[in-house]
Amino acid sequence: MAQDDLKDRAERLTDELVQWRRALHRHPELGFEEHRTAAFVSERLRELGLEVRTEVARTGVVGVFRAPEAAGPAVLLRSDMDALPVQEIEGREYGSRVPGKMHACGHDGHMAMLLGTARLLRDLRDELRRDVVFCFQPAEEGHGGAREMLDSGILEDTRAGSAYALHLWSQFPVGTIQMRSGPTMAAQDEFTARVIGRGGHGALPHRTADPIVAAAHVITALQTVVSRNVDPVAPAVLTVGSVHGGSAPNVIPDEVLLQGTLRSFSEEVRETLRERVSDLFEGTARAHGCLPDLDFEPGFPAVVNDAEATARARKIAVEVVGESNVVEHPPMAASEDFAYFLREVPGTFIFLGAGNAERGITAPHHSAEFDIDESALPRGAELLARLAIRGL
Ligand SMILES: [Zn+2]
Ligand SMILES: [Zn+2]
Repeated sequence: MAQDDLKDRAERLTDELVQWRRALHRHPELGFEEHRTAAFVSERLRELGLEVRTEVARTGVVGVFRAPEAAGPAVLLRSDMDALPVQEIEGREYGSRVPGKMHACGHDGHMAMLLGTARLLRDLRDELRRDVVFCFQPAEEGHGGAREMLDSGILEDTRAGSAYALHLWSQFPVGTIQMRSGPTMAAQDEFTARVIGRGGHGALPHRTADPIVAAAHVITALQTVVSRNVDPVAPAVLTVGSVHGGSAPNVIPDEVLLQGTLRSFSEEVRETLRERVSDLFEGTARAHGCLPDLDFEPGFPAVVNDAEATARARKIAVEVVGESNVVEHPPMAASEDFAYFLREVPGTFIFLGAGNAERGITAPHHSAEFDIDESALPRGAELLARLAIRGL
């Protein structure tokens, strides 16, 4: 069966995968601006004979391989497309040609791998028992491109019944694949809290409603949200990351602005955080004679990997890198908008090791020095191809 030599064929694809990744790396585009990127991706998908739709969720691209006789719902494989507003360090031949923009999260590699998967599956088309959907999604980095992709009706249009995504990870060694069942990455919500007081002379505080003192109490009170309201074995984070108020030592200002972020791994904890922040903020501000004005900005939900899909993916990962190189990682407090897909269909989000300490590839994601060990690329393409054939 042709599937048996998938590993060799993926390995032979390495040069092309590296070329694609570097071509994309040189021309990074931010969320919902991925026009050149979309053209690059769709051109290659068409060459490979896929049905291609462009301008899905503005700059997204969807390609479909039809199985000769589909025996079940389609499998969706997702890559993100966007870069970050980061200035890449100088001196790399394949470095970004666009000042102030960089593929600093590895999404260039994700696209190259997914194109590689299409190449691998083209030769196995007769063996496909289900349609395979190649979903190139824009704007993962905080803009919620996944939400728009789903709103465009991609799951219904393609009759997708499961979804998989890979993320290259420089903090895990190349040659490893890391995954876990259940909650994997955090839900992320943000809040802006205005403590509205009544300003005045710093020596006449009794004529004012001091928002600085009130804000100090608010910040302290918020420290009890996680410690007193969330189950100690359920991870959660509340951080007040920004405080702004006042302009002189002897003037009490009219208001103070606080901003913070919340991370959680279940809808239950997420709701608790939100309710307690709201109650404590309102009560504490009012107790100090100030008016509360709270604004929540809901972010991505938690990434929750389906148990059965993850077990299946784990078996397949063992075929790609061997038993000892498939690792269960702890939950991560970062967030990912693939979470929206996993709320609709079962699937799993997998980390592909791309770090290499010996070669100095250790910089964290979103940094100017970020890079990947490109030998991860054929492994990723092979893993996705096997998932397309035998995933849930
Ligand atoms: Zn990122
Ligand atoms: Zn990313």
